Amino acid sequence: MSFYASYGYLDLSTRFVNLIQGDPINVEIHINIEEYKSPDELSAEEQQLIQRAIESARDAYAPYSEFCVGACLLLENGTYISGNNQENAAYPDGLCAERVAIFAANANHPGSPVKMMAVTAVFQDKLLDQPVYPCGSCRQALLESELRFNRPVRILMYGKEGILAVNSIKELLPLSFDSSFLKSK
Ligand SMILES: [Zn+2]
Repeated sequence: MSFYASYGYLDLSTRFVNLIQGDPINVEIHINIEEYKSPDELSAEEQQLIQRAIESARDAYAPYSEFCVGACLLLENGTYISGNNQENAAYPDGLCAERVAIFAANANHPGSPVKMMAVTAVFQDKLLDQPVYPCGSCRQALLESELRFNRPVRILMYGKEGILAVNSIKELLPLSFDSSFLKSK
């Protein structure tokens, strides 16, 4: 049995009921990821977004890990909002680049959905070869943004040797938790 986890969230509840009732099934979750070798294959807008994410990574405050992440959002109203990771000597008090950007966007442009996000990382002053992915907590924050505005966010994960792209955070966060659970009994 297989299905796609992209949009419109599958009829998982029925499948899990079957599972609980002793009728085991194998469930495969497919994610739709686009791969690009170079920013040249992307739109001018997307290239701009990646460039801003790279610049933002170089401004990160990451003296402890030296892993500098940069994110840039393009909002529906045309505004670019950058964010980078902010570390703290009390380690858990830091915050990831993506959430710095999302929260800044929501604080300053509360009515404008996020249209796209690019993320990349610089480690010890070198741009990473491989694309970097948002951590679990940032995926959750991106999901909240998508659901809040009912607007999928295109996500570009950039590395010098390639770019991965998804058209919704749901691709990276199947079986996710959202507010619907808070209303369930
Ligand atoms: Zn994160």
